[in-house]
Amino acid sequence: MDNQDLEDLTERTAELIVNSAKVVFFTGAGISTESGIPDFRSPGGIWERLDPADFTYQKFVSHRESRRKHWQLLWGGRMAEDAKPNPAHFAIAELDRLGKLDCVITQNIDNLHRQAGVPADKVLELHGNMQSVSCLKCGRHYSMMQIKARLDSGEEIPECETCGGILKPDIVMFGEALPEAVLREATARSRECDLLIVIGSTLAVYPAAYLPAYAVEAGASLVIINLSPTPFDRDAVVLLRAKAGETMSAITEKVMEKVGS
Ligand code: NAD
Repeated sequence: MDNQDLEDLTERTAELIVNSAKVVFFTGAGISTESGIPDFRSPGGIWERLDPADFTYQKFVSHRESRRKHWQLLWGGRMAEDAKPNPAHFAIAELDRLGKLDCVITQNIDNLHRQAGVPADKVLELHGNMQSVSCLKCGRHYSMMQIKARLDSGEEIPECETCGGILKPDIVMFGEALPEAVLREATARSRECDLLIVIGSTLAVYPAAYLPAYAVEAGASLVIINLSPTPFDRDAVVLLRAKAGETMSAITEKVMEKVGS
């Protein structure tokens, strides 16, 4: 994409934001790659190294070996480190301060929207949040930091200190249902918005990927900021094949100019 195209498309997106009453962002793993967290499906992404079939909820609860893989290969590693929000997360938080954010619907579990300053009640986490861990038997909660410390000191498969039950991060695994109330709220917000902006998602994971379709069906404009094609590209009024951080910073700066802030 050349600079003039980028300039025109960021300008168009800023205008759409300024002229919309309800702006919803829908974010996926691609918004956090610039924070150092690999996505799932890009070249070099997690599923080039690991087999998704090993990481289902059913295997997690029934096989110790699967739990070991989860803790040692996923949660004990990069994802659990102290990743920081990047300019794309901060740009969305800035739009909230400008009164231009209805909510962020995210597939991410990394807590970076909240860390960037988007109020918790405006972040709808479809797949949960990995900052906390719960015992499946007695319900005791732990912070991921507590469990990470135990992994660092050599535990391979952490278990509940109270009852010895299985500990699971508070995220939605493959084969597990999405939290019903969050999905209901996200569906309603998608149907009611004027503008839905997708950032960093292949839009390949359902039911989350239905949400942009609901928005378009209800008459909203769709903007997609993503490095690779998605099945919804033809529905987008603006398609930005560009990196989330610099693109969102440019868009938010233009919004600030337009609203005189
Ligand atoms: P995905 O891995 O399927 O797709 C990511 C998309 O983002 C790709 O199309 C890629 O081209 C694009 N992308 C990568 N870097 C980008 C950048 N800097 N700017 C713009 N686009 C960029 O991700 P998905 O659709 O979110 O599905 C993966 C599932 O895995 C989600 O359900 C999510 O819960 C989970 N996941 C979460 C995290 C996280 O919390 N950070 C990380 C990996 C996976």
